[in-house]
Amino acid sequence: MERIRELIQKGSTHADACETIRQSTVFTTHTPVPAGHDVFPHHLMDRYFAGYWEQLGLSREDFLRLGDTPESQGQGFNMTALAIRLAAHVNGVSREHGQVSREMWRHLWPGLPTEQVPIRSVTNGIHAPTWIAPELNQLYGKYLGPAWAERCDDTTMWQRVLDIPDQELWAVRQTMKRKLMSFIRERARSGWMQGQLQASQVLTRGTLLDPEALTIGFARRFATYKRATLLFRDLDRLKRLLHNQWRPVQLIFAGKAHPADEPGRFFIHEVLSFCDDHKLGGHVAFLENYDMHMAKFLVQGVDIWLNTPRFPLEASGTSGQKAALNGVINLSVLDGWWKEGYNGANGWGIEPLIGNSDIQAQDEHDAQQLYRLLEQEAVQLYYQRDLDGIPRGWLQLMKENLRTNAPRFCTKRMVKEYVDNLYAPAMVRTPSIW
Ligand SMILES: *Cc1c(COP(=O)(O)O)cnc(C)c1O
Repeated sequence: MERIRELIQKGSTHADACETIRQSTVFTTHTPVPAGHDVFPHHLMDRYFAGYWEQLGLSREDFLRLGDTPESQGQGFNMTALAIRLAAHVNGVSREHGQVSREMWRHLWPGLPTEQVPIRSVTNGIHAPTWIAPELNQLYGKYLGPAWAERCDDTTMWQRVLDIPDQELWAVRQTMKRKLMSFIRERARSGWMQGQLQASQVLTRGTLLDPEALTIGFARRFATYKRATLLFRDLDRLKRLLHNQWRPVQLIFAGKAHPADEPGRFFIHEVLSFCDDHKLGGHVAFLENYDMHMAKFLVQGVDIWLNTPRFPLEASGTSGQKAALNGVINLSVLDGWWKEGYNGANGWGIEPLIGNSDIQAQDEHDAQQLYRLLEQEAVQLYYQRDLDGIPRGWLQLMKENLRTNAPRFCTKRMVKEYVDNLYAPAMVRTPSIW
């Protein structure tokens, strides 16, 4: 709006200014979840924008209409609706999210079939040098070439992960896992030393975790649609997984909820009480103060990255890409990036229940698949060892994951797509005064 105002001040008509700004503006929408879209009541718009709409050549009603949606019923100003109306280049952050966004915003193009709604997608990618574990960086340097990170989107280069000897890859992965375990132990120790943790909490914050056991990580915002507690739905079944004497499983959780998200905070409370339940034997840990530093240890150090969003609400689920680059196997609902990343042989996908709006039925259906995949596939494969102690099947899965996911879900590929499909077309129309 400010860019439009500047053009008008320089003598443009409202229509010309709007069209110039639209053609030179890119807008990326990031989530279908309503809480992720700011809507301001009209009395606040009045308070802060009275006197402004004239400068845009608009009446109050025309101005407020820029933020209208069918849900707002003339009461709220939706910032996403505004952005979409004033940007000619709009995208979602995965193929599926593009589709979801076209449906969600089709009302802005009355009469247009959903598939023609001009919202496209560029799937998120991660910055490999930021997220790669140092040990693995070295290994990639040796087998993919020293400049592997600069050629991160080169699919041919990634074929060479097949040349990495299983022994070496497994040893590096084990080192990364041990580093995570010492990170967790040191945090518990310092919490104890500073009097922030009770003795029992020292045990339940991960100090009983075993570096040899199959370790599942779940770390992200505790937004309710991500269903952090799905794995606890059938507690007896979970206990059988965790307590298997020869093939134990352990879980590490981390994350924060938005302070105003009461149900999200309750999820954290629930996970914490499972950690504190001594009958779960210290096999479940919750790490407090989740941040990027901790995220690095987690996406590098666990064996499986779990994501259980309620379909189709996960726009991307980008942390899974960080895990994939580090040889961690994704086990996730086929939503967001994973819907296009999963190929049947590079991790595990949970087919969500579609077309049934009953939330309980969805949760039950998705949880059943989650348990089945863990019991019948993940645990088997992880503990199937050759005489030298190496899980060859697991490593094959890991390499297939690296070969297929690493080149596609990195920023190199992503930025190229933004430039080619969005930024360059918008640049052509950028007025010369900028
Ligand atoms: C990557 C990352 C996220 C986003 O991950 P999602 O899988 O999209 O939830 C959130 N927080 C931190 C600290 C991250 O590193």
